[in-house]
Amino acid sequence: MTTKKYDFSNDVEMEEILKVKNNIKILKTKVKNAANKINKKPEEIKIMAVIKTVNPILVNVAIKEGIFLLGENKAQEFLEKYDSYLKENVEFHFIGHLQSKKVKQIIKIVDTIESVDSFNLAQIISKEAKKINKTIPILLEINIGDEESKFGFKKNELLKNIILISKLENLKIKGLMSIPPIKNVEQYFKQMQTIYIDISNKKIDNVDMNFLSMGMSNDFEKAIFYGANIVRIGSFLFGSRK
Ligand SMILES: *Cc1c(COP(=O)(O)O)cnc(C)c1O
Repeated sequence: MTTKKYDFSNDVEMEEILKVKNNIKILKTKVKNAANKINKKPEEIKIMAVIKTVNPILVNVAIKEGIFLLGENKAQEFLEKYDSYLKENVEFHFIGHLQSKKVKQIIKIVDTIESVDSFNLAQIISKEAKKINKTIPILLEINIGDEESKFGFKKNELLKNIILISKLENLKIKGLMSIPPIKNVEQYFKQMQTIYIDISNKKIDNVDMNFLSMGMSNDFEKAIFYGANIVRIGSFLFGSRK
């Protein structure tokens, strides 16, 4: 018998399903309005449903309601729940700190790793991706608030690392990701936007700045204002996590 750490009941209350559907509707309107304010089309902003601790039944409700990007931040949970998800037209991004020993399994199922937070991790992903003949799109995570508790590259070490990582095989840098401090968040979104544009202007070989992933349930509208084109939304869609 196999014991699963993440075990979900097979029935979900209708009320919960309706709530998720309604939250998606509200979220899409808010994203659309935030996009309009800066003359962007709503389609230019990707809404990611962050699915940690969420029952896969509700995740599939979100997919059916038109959310086509899912984000998971715990490797073990992702691996256990993966088979339960609808897959057609759905993209999966890994957004948490990835331990070296999980790289091999995770790269088989993800479309992008948003949370590459060290040169060492990039090297391991490159090595494992080469073995399965896959090129993995990655974003680099920036510790924009220089917080001890968070992973990611420090601002002053970023450029050096981008150049090193851009030379690794079977990886493709596609943008930046951040989880800024909650306090004075706009200041950090603005810094991220500046860094993103600066790097983009440098036109480094094998580096595209296509995605700026920032903004969560409480601050996604502000993030969109400062150029985010992936917003990562958990509790706004699925309620607060237990
Ligand atoms: C949990 C999580 C989110 C979503 O947070 P909410 O505040 O619930 O929207 C976004 N990004 C990352 C990396 C997360 O771990």
